[in-house]
Amino acid sequence: MRPEILFPLFRDIESLKGVGSRYAEHLRRLVGGRCKDLIYHAPAQVVDRRHSPKLKDIQNGEIATVTVEILKHKSAKLRHLPYKVIATDGTADVTIVFFHSKGDYVEKSLPIGQKRVISGKFEIYDNVLQITHPDYIVSEDQLHSVAKIDPVYPQTAGLPAKVLRRAIEQSIALAPALPEWLDIELKNRNKWLSWKDALQDLHNPKSAGDLQPTHPIRMRLAYDELLANQLAIALVHKGNKRPKGRELKSTGMLVEKMTTALPYQLTNSQQMALHEIFADMANSTRMLRLLQGDVGSGKTVVALLSMLRAVENGMQAALMVPTEILAQQHLETITNLLSALNMTPLLLSGRDKGKIKEEKLMKIKSGEVKIIIGTHALFQEGVVFHDLGLAIIDEQHRFGVHQRLMLSRKGNAVDVLVMTATPIPRTLCLTAYGHMDVSQLREKPPGRKPIKTVAVDLDRSGEVIEGLQRSITNGQQIYWVCPLVDESEKIDLAAAEERYAMLKTIFGDAVGLVHGKMKSADKDQVMQDFADNKIKILVATTVIEVGVNVPNATIMVIEHAERFGLSQLHQLRGRVGRADQSSSCVLLYKDPMGQTAKARINIMRETEDGFRIAEEDLKLRGAGEVLGTRQSGLPEFKIADLEIHQDLLKMANDDAKLILNKDPQLESARGKALQILLYLFEKDQTAQYIRSG
Ligand code: ADP
Ligand code: MG
Repeated sequence: MRPEILFPLFRDIESLKGVGSRYAEHLRRLVGGRCKDLIYHAPAQVVDRRHSPKLKDIQNGEIATVTVEILKHKSAKLRHLPYKVIATDGTADVTIVFFHSKGDYVEKSLPIGQKRVISGKFEIYDNVLQITHPDYIVSEDQLHSVAKIDPVYPQTAGLPAKVLRRAIEQSIALAPALPEWLDIELKNRNKWLSWKDALQDLHNPKSAGDLQPTHPIRMRLAYDELLANQLAIALVHKGNKRPKGRELKSTGMLVEKMTTALPYQLTNSQQMALHEIFADMANSTRMLRLLQGDVGSGKTVVALLSMLRAVENGMQAALMVPTEILAQQHLETITNLLSALNMTPLLLSGRDKGKIKEEKLMKIKSGEVKIIIGTHALFQEGVVFHDLGLAIIDEQHRFGVHQRLMLSRKGNAVDVLVMTATPIPRTLCLTAYGHMDVSQLREKPPGRKPIKTVAVDLDRSGEVIEGLQRSITNGQQIYWVCPLVDESEKIDLAAAEERYAMLKTIFGDAVGLVHGKMKSADKDQVMQDFADNKIKILVATTVIEVGVNVPNATIMVIEHAERFGLSQLHQLRGRVGRADQSSSCVLLYKDPMGQTAKARINIMRETEDGFRIAEEDLKLRGAGEVLGTRQSGLPEFKIADLEIHQDLLKMANDDAKLILNKDPQLESARGKALQILLYLFEKDQTAQYIRSG
C-alpha cells in the first residue's frame, strides 16, 4: 500500500487550481495525471527578466522588463483585428498587442495615464516596436515579482505557460518533506540537497547553469530515479541472489563431439560466450543470462551447444522463438547439425493439432526427445516435460517476462538463457536487465564481406529496379521491404501490395509477397519458395525483421527508409550479407527528410557494427525510445539521462545491492525511506516483494 505521506503527490492534477478538465487533458498528455508527474517536469530553459533596457535600445526578439506609461488604447474595430495599446518610457513608444482579448480586461490592466511594468519578448515590425501578450503586466510596486529568472518548460500546444507554471508551483507546495533515503555520506560528498529542496531549486533556476544535467540539483534527482530503478530490479531478484540450480557439468559426451563436427570453427566471441554459459550451468545457482549478438553473429550454434550440455546431463532443453518461420528455420539448422550426433530435434508449434500434437506431447513427456524447438505453444498448459534443464528464449523482447517464467517453470530449477539480436547499449542493459548476466557476440563469423549501403532518392527507384534485373540474371535474390506507415497494418499492407503489383508487371512470377496478415501456412510457403530460390524478389512488410536466414539473398531494398528507426534498419540490413558473396543495401528515401532521418541514414552508411549503431540510436532518440519502449520493456526516466548519468547508474547499481545485503526487508530507518522512494516512482509491484521475500 502506498504510504500516506505520498498521498498529496498522487492527487489528480485536475484538483489543482486553474486546471480545468480541458487543461488537465493537455497536462496528462504532456507529463502525466498526478502531481508527482508535474514536480518532475523539469524546465528546459531559463528566461532572464532582469534585463531592463530603454525602449529605444531594445533589439528585435529581446526579452526585457520595462516600466512604461500608458498613452492610449486602440480597440479593435473588427473581431479578428488585434487590440492595441500605445505606451512609452520617454525614450520611445511601444505597441502592446492583444488578440481575442476582452477589451475590459485590457482597459483594467493597462489604465491610461498610469505606469505599468511589462515583461516579455519585444519585436520590431516595420520600425514599430511591439510586444504581443506580455508575460507579465504588474504595477510598479510589484517589479520584484517580475524582474528575475523564470524557468521555461517543455510545452504543448493549447496549454498556456502560466497554467503549467501555476500547476507545477501548487504541486511543489503540496510535496511533503520526505525522509532521506540517500546514504548520508554520499549526499554530503556530492553536496546534494534534500529531495524537497532539490525539487524547489529545480523549478527556480538561478541561471542557465542550474539546468545542466551535471548540476548537483539534477544529479540528486537523477540519482533518486536511478536508485529506485535499480533497487526495484534488485528486489525482484532478491538482492541478486539466484535461486539454487542444478549443476550441469561437462560429461564429454555431446558438446565436444558436436563442436568437432561443426563445419566451421567457433569464433572467439562464441567460445567466450559458451565458456560463460557453461560456467553458469555448472554452477550451483540457476543461470539467468542474456546473450546479445547482432544478426548473423552466430547465436544459434551457441544455443545448440548449450542445449547439448543439458542433454549430456540427461535433461531436456527447449528453444522458444517468436514466430513459426523462425521455428522452422531453427529446426532445419539444428536438424542438420545434430545429424552428426544421430539426434533429432522436435518442433512444437501452435499449428500442431490432433493426433500429431498428442504424439509430440507424449515424446516430450516421456523424455524420448531431448531437444525441443517451439513457438508460444511451448509454455501452454498441456506441455509437460520429462526433465527440462535449460530453457532458451530467442528474440526475448518478443516475449513477456511472464511467458519466460511460464516456460522455465516447466522444469525443476531450470537454467535460462535469453537471446537478443538487438544490441543494447551497456547503460540501458543495466536499467532493464540489471539482474541478468550478459554475454556479447561482438564479432561476426569470418569471411563476411561488408554490405555496400547506398541511399537513393525514391524518385530514382526506376534505376534501382533496372539494376535488380541485372542482379537476378546474375543469380542473386532480393528483399524489398515496404515501410511501416503507422500503427495500422492495413495501410502498410496497401503499400506493400501496390509495390508487389508494380514489380510483378516487370518481373512476373519471380516476385512474391509476404506480410503479417497472411495465414502462417501461406506465409511459410512464400518464405520457403524464397529460400528455395523459386522467388527472386520478396516484397515484405517488416515481418521479415526477425531472424530469417536466406544466404542467397544479397540485396536489401528498404523503401521509405526515412521512416524506419535505426535499429530497425540495421536489423533489416542484417538479412543480407549472410553468405560469402558481396551484398548491398539500398535505402530508398523520400525528400525532404528531417535531421534525425538524415543522421540515421548516414550512420547506416558508415557502420555495420550493431553495438555502435545502438549507441548512436540512444543518442538520437533518447533512452526511452530505443527499441520502442513498449516492446522492449525498457524504463523511461524523467530527469536521469543515461548518456550523461552513466556513473550515477553504476553507483545506484552498487548501492542497491549493498542496501539489500544489509537490510533485505528495508526495515531500518533508511530502509523505510527507501520504501517511500519505491512508491514515489510507482514500483508498487516490487515493493510487495519486500514482504514476500
Ligand atoms: P544469428 O542467430 O545470431 O542471427 P545465426 O546463428 O543464424 O546468427 O548464424 C548466421 C550464419 O552464420 C549461419 O549461416 C551460421 O551457419 C553461420 N555461422 C555461425 N557461426 C559461425 C562460425 N563460427 N563460422 C562460420 N559461420 C558461422
Ligand atoms: Mg538467430
